[in-house]
Amino acid sequence: MASYYDEHDCEPDDSGVHRNLDLLQFARMLVENSDMLDFDLDLDFDGFTLPGERRAPPASIAVVQALPSIEISAKQVQMGKKCPVCLLEFDIHEKAKQLPCQHQFHSGCILPWLKKTNSCPVCRHELLTDDPDYEEYRKQKEKSKEKEARVESLHNSMYT
Ligand SMILES: [Zn+2]
Ligand SMILES: [Zn+2]
Repeated sequence: MASYYDEHDCEPDDSGVHRNLDLLQFARMLVENSDMLDFDLDLDFDGFTLPGERRAPPASIAVVQALPSIEISAKQVQMGKKCPVCLLEFDIHEKAKQLPCQHQFHSGCILPWLKKTNSCPVCRHELLTDDPDYEEYRKQKEKSKEKEARVESLHNSMYT
């Protein structure tokens, strides 16, 4: 592992180490099972959890209850606006639930979804959860992302 961190010029931290190990295992598994894979691989797909990655918990109940209900306008109906979950077109004056990312869904479609996971099915915008462990994990993940960004901008400033 030492060489990895030498090359990337960053310090090992717990989450990073585990993620990298898991990704290696995962890559190996993919190679071994590649003939079974007939779907587009998306590592961020919520329903597919990497070994050791945390599965996202449900969205916070309070946050879900506070989601605004908006009325579908005639214009939206004319434009054939669809609920991204069930792919049915909205009816005029139908109420839709709007997530903070502005995506709109039938409440009957998005509410069961948010009971399982905390992110928008369209853009993966994450809602707050009631799980303190997960919130902590997410903070750490954000931090390591920032760290990567800093290393990258440092790297860029050295070579530009
Ligand atoms: Zn729907
Ligand atoms: Zn969204």
